[in-house]
Amino acid sequence: MVARHTAVTEADVRKALGAVIDPGHGKDIVTLGRVSGVVVRDGNVGFAIEVEPERGAALEPMRKAAEDSVMQVPGVVSVTAVLTAERPPTPPLSAPAAASGSDIQAARRAAQAPHGRVAADAPKPLVPGVRHIVAVASGKGGVGKSTVAANLALALRAEGHEVGILDADIYGPSVPRMLGITGRPQSKDGKILEPMENYGIKAMSIGFLIKEDTPMIWRGPMVIGALEQMMRDVNWGTLDVMVVDMPPGTGDAQLTLAQRVPLAGAVIVSTPQDIALIDARKGLAMFRKVNVPVLGIVENMSTFICPNCGHESHIFSHGGARACAEELNVPFLGEIPLDMEIRETSDGGAPITASRPESENAARFRAIARKVWDAVEVTRQGRGGPRIVVE
Ligand code: ADP
Repeated sequence: MVARHTAVTEADVRKALGAVIDPGHGKDIVTLGRVSGVVVRDGNVGFAIEVEPERGAALEPMRKAAEDSVMQVPGVVSVTAVLTAERPPTPPLSAPAAASGSDIQAARRAAQAPHGRVAADAPKPLVPGVRHIVAVASGKGGVGKSTVAANLALALRAEGHEVGILDADIYGPSVPRMLGITGRPQSKDGKILEPMENYGIKAMSIGFLIKEDTPMIWRGPMVIGALEQMMRDVNWGTLDVMVVDMPPGTGDAQLTLAQRVPLAGAVIVSTPQDIALIDARKGLAMFRKVNVPVLGIVENMSTFICPNCGHESHIFSHGGARACAEELNVPFLGEIPLDMEIRETSDGGAPITASRPESENAARFRAIARKVWDAVEVTRQGRGGPRIVVE
């Protein structure tokens, strides 16, 4: 046993986990080689338990038992365990045959029998009922990525599509607040979570899975397991499009996420004052690295609309994103002004696209939504249209 004043080590954690039995195999999870990513810092412990995808939901009690067991180790102050599923076999991302995330999705769909039933020998798709998964990303925080993601989801809904939004922003999950959603997701059968819902769209947030006091350093490694869980173990039903509000930035967590989620494409949000749009370029480069089509750039906080007189001022060097998009040969999806109405409505839980559909700003978001929809449909048809690849 470790004395209370000594630092908790990974060996202590593994020893405690050696007492946790996987009910399906009758052996402990350490012996089975299921434990990975053990992080220990100042008595706070985090780790992942790898499980077979189809057993994920049933193993929640085992996950809890693992947390409880480690919590008993003297010196431990908090424990966070996540279940991660081994990725079902898909074409390797680096192989030329796997040209894009949507190809991977297509490969998964091809493995499905008609009527949405999965063929016996096929890997279960992460979210079989979802036609397109679209990431909304930004090179850095605070550019309005979540605002755009929420309004884009609502605009796609307004265009008549069935829509879900998945909040993967580990550093500041804000989608529930923006959509005016309170409470926590419930499960009818103790296995599959029901998504939250408002304004006709379904929503899940990583904020429901990662405790607020989880130290930042673990959020990165945890995001993948938690995200896969949010896709696999949530009753999304049939959706035309799922919008994923990505964590800001272009670090390892974002890269892995872009690689592991079968994305149909990515929308990059940038502000104009970010001269030369260095961060946005990094975002483009990241998606290019994993062959996810960049659907285009949105310039947010483009011009300033005076709340008193409605006058439009170009306080930042408006147009930077359009120029950057042209230079990089990426579609420019549109510009959204810096407008008090946008801030008040999204921070107040009633984004402008839903609460003031007749406004110019709502129309701007719907125009962006139409472009995004057309782009993912074209990409899905493969050779039917231009494949958007950044040079
Ligand atoms: P991010 O997801 O990039 O961190 P958020 O979407 O949370 O950024 O936006 C940060 C803040 O800026 C929020 O208070 C939001 O309401 C506000 N905001 C975002 N876009 C606009 C806009 N076009 N006009 C006014 N306020 C905006």
